[in-house]
Amino acid sequence: MAAKFEVPQGWVLQAYQYALDPTGPQTSMLESHAGGARFAYNTMLRAVKANLGQREAEKSYGIASADLTPSMSWSFQSLRNGFNRLKHQVAVREDGTPWWEENSKEAYANACKNLAAALKNWDESRRGTRKGQRVGFPSFKSKRSARKFAFTTGTIRAEANRHHVTLPKLGTMRVHESTRKLARRLEAGTARILKATVRFERGHWLVSFTCVVARAAQRPAHVKRLAPVVGVDLGVKDLVVAATPDGREVLRVQARKEFKRASRKLRALQRKAARQAGPWDAVTESRREPSNAWLRTQQVIAKQQVRVANQRRDRLHKLTTLLAQSFDVIGTETLAVKNMMASGGARKKGLNRSIADAGLGEFSRQLDYKTTWYRSKRVQADRWYPSSKTCSGCGSVKAKLALSERVYVCDNAECGLVIDRDLNAAINLARLARAEQSACFDSGGADRKSTAPAALVAVKPESSNGSASPKSEAA
Ligand SMILES: [Zn+2]
Repeated sequence: MAAKFEVPQGWVLQAYQYALDPTGPQTSMLESHAGGARFAYNTMLRAVKANLGQREAEKSYGIASADLTPSMSWSFQSLRNGFNRLKHQVAVREDGTPWWEENSKEAYANACKNLAAALKNWDESRRGTRKGQRVGFPSFKSKRSARKFAFTTGTIRAEANRHHVTLPKLGTMRVHESTRKLARRLEAGTARILKATVRFERGHWLVSFTCVVARAAQRPAHVKRLAPVVGVDLGVKDLVVAATPDGREVLRVQARKEFKRASRKLRALQRKAARQAGPWDAVTESRREPSNAWLRTQQVIAKQQVRVANQRRDRLHKLTTLLAQSFDVIGTETLAVKNMMASGGARKKGLNRSIADAGLGEFSRQLDYKTTWYRSKRVQADRWYPSSKTCSGCGSVKAKLALSERVYVCDNAECGLVIDRDLNAAINLARLARAEQSACFDSGGADRKSTAPAALVAVKPESSNGSASPKSEAA
């Protein structure tokens, strides 16, 4: 694979994910590949650290820069070549037999690629050439780290029978869901697999194929267009509320009952486990052998977690598809997850659990690539735009609006508007999107041409530097 793959015109990146159903020996091989990838990552990280440490020590002895041990290259190629040299000494068993041969070399190469990226991010971050939060020096991967590895070359296929996939070294494996959507595209030549990432998550091995797919960027004919321009508010109580600039509510999606029930059941199970004799004895403050009852509850919890996660994923996809297909221009808040959840957070603390749990970043990312697919457009409000606090009637801005206030009541005596809180915010966002849209057309219609992947316009009145840059790929 070339260093940088350019997505052809009219093609988009899209990922297809399947849960694998490996045989016993295949499970061992999956484990072995994940372990091998971790080993390569840690081996090369250790080498980089040793090199840095050596140079540091030499400097402290006053050795001239020119005479220092040369610094090691952190490029992907150098790290991969480095591992290929080292593996003959380090990736062998005590009796001298090499175990590295048992895994595909791709697993090691991709681990080196990840390490190269992590080092580059850290380096750029410390030099100040990288935006966003400070990136720390890469750390070693422990046995508890995510089990994950990837293939970019070799035999990577979805089999014609729609129920098996083939990966290098691992061979053909059964998958739980039908692969027909991907298989049809591969057969028709409208999709190409670039990469297969395998990871272990919540008790299952999953494979994700990153593909380039030829997609006509347009709305499917059967989908009804609900309105040209809308604002979408991620509600506190409802999932989303969409409204037009003239104040018409066009969409309100509520959290589904099944989902609430499933989440409630999960929390009840977790409380149950807390009452049972787990591995930690709070009385004596020591570890102990957990009871069988506790272990049984853990198994039920794991199953319920998978169920809840699947429901959430499914619903989030349906929601973002609906939004991207039903409207031409969608105004939203800036959904910088880190700003909202990690630091600060107060502004959307009560945000509907089901969206918050699934990750606002994921909502944002899906909306971005789906608006590209369906030729709609997303307009993000400035991070500090007070969509909730602004009155959609008179434009006055409240100083404070508690999350518990479900209804917006305008303080301006002459206006006195009383309106559903989320609807009010959605109307404001719709107007902002409309204003931005007309501004684009006024300035020579430059925007009409930009149907290419980055059809995203961020409204940034006081050009701040920390705007989130969503990935354009699907996952
Ligand atoms: Zn008002």
